[in-house]
Amino acid sequence: KNIQIAIDGPAGAGKSTIAKIVAEALGFTYIDTGAMYRAVTYKAMQQDIYLDDETKLANMLAVSTIDLKPSAQGQLVFLDGENVSDAIRSNEVTASVSQVAAHAKVREQLVAQQQKLAANGGVVMDGRDIATHVLTDAELKVFMSATVEERARRRFLDNQKRGIVSSIDKLQEEIALRDKMDSEREASPLIQAEDAIFLDTTTLSIDEAAQAILRLAQE
Ligand code: C5P
Repeated sequence: KNIQIAIDGPAGAGKSTIAKIVAEALGFTYIDTGAMYRAVTYKAMQQDIYLDDETKLANMLAVSTIDLKPSAQGQLVFLDGENVSDAIRSNEVTASVSQVAAHAKVREQLVAQQQKLAANGGVVMDGRDIATHVLTDAELKVFMSATVEERARRRFLDNQKRGIVSSIDKLQEEIALRDKMDSEREASPLIQAEDAIFLDTTTLSIDEAAQAILRLAQE
């Protein structure tokens, strides 16, 4: 069945980890929309495009291909055929992605791609505007959050695993700034949809959060 599950929320709330588990349990496709905004940002930085130049960014994106491919190590991201899965997680890309994601002409193109990806069957899609803009008819909408301290701690551990050196204080600052930019932008800001269910993951384990969503999905 073509069931859609939308998971939105601020950075580090556990969206991607939990969405992946939920998708696997249901046999659905997992789509990480943040990876697409990161890929655009990565390419723009590679090409020295000014990140406030909406027209240039939109033109660049129009001639780019971004592919998300499931693999044993999780979702892989290909940009113009090149595997950029690790490159798009760098501190530099993370620090700049909200600036790129603020442009309506960038969002229009990515949203259209995301809607196409969701048209073919069961999907779990995570992002910031999935319930409010991308999949407004999703059967289940979850808005996932946690305290900023806990989210910074998680990102720190996550980075450690990826071999990225970071400090918890800096991460907390970066996360708070990114949330502010994502929530205050004009084009589809980060906001809980009226028909979304709020899930606070601060004191939940990954498994508990995934089970909570699976229970909701079975209702
Ligand atoms: O989820 P992730 O942290 O990888 O997202 C990176 C950034 O991409 C977010 O901070 C936000 O600026 C942008 N984004 C967005 N809309 C989405 C997904 C991500 O604006 N649906």
